[in-house]
Amino acid sequence: MSTRPVHEGLFGEDEHGNAFLVGGRCDTCGRVQFPTAATCPACGVDTITEVRLGDHGTLWGWTAVTAPPPGYLGDVPFGFGVVELPEGLRVITRLEESDPTRLEFGMPMKVVITALGPDPEGEIVTTYAFTPAIAP
Ligand SMILES: [Zn+2]
Repeated sequence: MSTRPVHEGLFGEDEHGNAFLVGGRCDTCGRVQFPTAATCPACGVDTITEVRLGDHGTLWGWTAVTAPPPGYLGDVPFGFGVVELPEGLRVITRLEESDPTRLEFGMPMKVVITALGPDPEGEIVTTYAFTPAIAP
């Protein structure tokens, strides 16, 4: 069965199967953003270079979503939260862990690609998510 990302250009997977997020870095001031925008929010220039972001971060905030948003294809409840990346930006993300009591502030998280479910055409829609990582 074929798959497609929920949005193009948000995430990828390398040849070892490691998922990562795709962001942008401002050529002028170096600010990193996710998702990538056409202009830099800090200095306003439009010279943004696509960069592979780190595949891990730390948990900053979280909740559980129990009612499916309009158009949502996946299961409920699902975890939803904010992960801070080493680049210094915070990413709003789906979390693979849906039980809020099993998460804690600052815990190490890693990027995974997860299947939400089939769209009306039968293609499996994938998105990025973070899941608790085993501490090094
Ligand atoms: Zn800039």
